[in-house]
Amino acid sequence: MFNLIQLPYSVEALEPVISARTLEFHHGKHLKGYVDNLNKLITGTPFEEMPLEEIVRKSDGAVFNNAGQILNHNMYFEQFAPSHPVGEPVEPPVHEPVEGPLMLQIKKQWGSLEAFQSEFVAKGVGLFGSGWVWLSAKEDGSLVITQEPGASNPVVKVLKPLLTFDVWEHAYYLDYQNRRADHLSALWKIVNWEIVEGRY
Ligand code: MN
Repeated sequence: MFNLIQLPYSVEALEPVISARTLEFHHGKHLKGYVDNLNKLITGTPFEEMPLEEIVRKSDGAVFNNAGQILNHNMYFEQFAPSHPVGEPVEPPVHEPVEGPLMLQIKKQWGSLEAFQSEFVAKGVGLFGSGWVWLSAKEDGSLVITQEPGASNPVVKVLKPLLTFDVWEHAYYLDYQNRRADHLSALWKIVNWEIVEGRY
């Protein structure tokens, strides 16, 4: 049995980048739906005993779609931090990039954090239909940006997933309508680089 993760912040905490209304639907309806579906689908099957990543690597069809979406969303929601102190008026971002091995590798490969961010957003904007844009690490520590369609996750390509933006319309339509690029660009304000560094 898989459980719906608890958000590590309040539903208002990511405003104005992500509204409370979007977060309530995205976490409480969409992600909950995937969790409920997967639990029904795997009851009485060998998948019942497997960790989520293993299910994603070994399944296909509806099991893959629901398990992939749980893995994707868990990593997505857990990589964000409040855009402003709780109870304070909405203010500019407080989360600066952390200088660590990941940031060094990003600068080595892209020249600057801004150049990396620009390519990452472009790949998200350029992904046709629903899916996810990911930063992942190869076994040798080098980094790669991939576009994953639907429910897929870089673990199926033997990559270590580090950071992701959800480009399904349910992630941004209430707040940004068709302006996917504006939404993706705004997400940098709430990325918790400590978490992302920790995954590297
Ligand atoms: Mn989503």
